[in-house]
Amino acid sequence: MLRGLNLTRTYGEGEVRTTALRDVTLELQRGQLALLMGPSGSGKSTLLAVLSGLLEPSSGQVISEDNGRMLDIWKLSAKQREDFRLRQVGFIFQGYNLFPALNSRQQLEIVLRWGGVCTAREARKRSDDMLGLLGLSKKATKKPAQLSGGEKQRVAIGRALIKNPKYVFADEPTSALDWENGERVIEMLRAAAHERDATILVVSHDHRIEPYVDAHFYMEDGMMRSHDRPAQPVEPTFWRNAQ
Ligand code: ATP
Ligand code: MG
Repeated sequence: MLRGLNLTRTYGEGEVRTTALRDVTLELQRGQLALLMGPSGSGKSTLLAVLSGLLEPSSGQVISEDNGRMLDIWKLSAKQREDFRLRQVGFIFQGYNLFPALNSRQQLEIVLRWGGVCTAREARKRSDDMLGLLGLSKKATKKPAQLSGGEKQRVAIGRALIKNPKYVFADEPTSALDWENGERVIEMLRAAAHERDATILVVSHDHRIEPYVDAHFYMEDGMMRSHDRPAQPVEPTFWRNAQ
């Protein structure tokens, strides 16, 4: 479980000061896929960065709970937080953030090699398996400049999931995809939550995702306006048939 408590974040000083988060509190459950919606500029990306240990909040806490152990990630040393991010967090950025010089396979391998998670041989095998799952086997040796927007997005998703992280944050992971591929991505995220017990928060403007999620958050003007579960979770297959 991951808790954000009374999170505030401002950018800049004086006249250019912007308050992106105003006293935001939320709780993400293990094994659940949660959706965060809200207008542009409402603070969604800022909240993801704060929860994932990338951006320090101006005030408030981020508590990770692991086997009854509570960890305030913003009270850790920089080294410990880096370690937390490396081992436990997968992040899909709004603009992909792929490494321009690496091909698709290397984008995945490097994540496994960095943390010393596995050997070169294992990293190669797991990366190729993940590319297969994403329908990208034929693009293994292509660099980002040679990929379409949707392909780059899928590589970014593979990179975030390949470590089997405990927490996954995804900033508009389906925005460059047609719905067939978008649905595939959401189903992968859902499987990571339900089958691998990950805690996942997805930011999206796409209402088609709603039937797939276990919890729903809505932000406006830096504030958390609601955190409701859908009253009646809809089975995706039923929902698809109804289209
Ligand atoms: P979008 O849906 O457009 O991605 P968002 O909900 O993700 O929007 P944020 O990117 O979190 O919104 O931005 C929240 C507010 O903080 C906005 O007013 C934005 O202009 C401001 N902001 C974000 N990043 C910075 C920054 N690095 N410096 C200054 N202001 C920033
Ligand atoms: Mg954003």
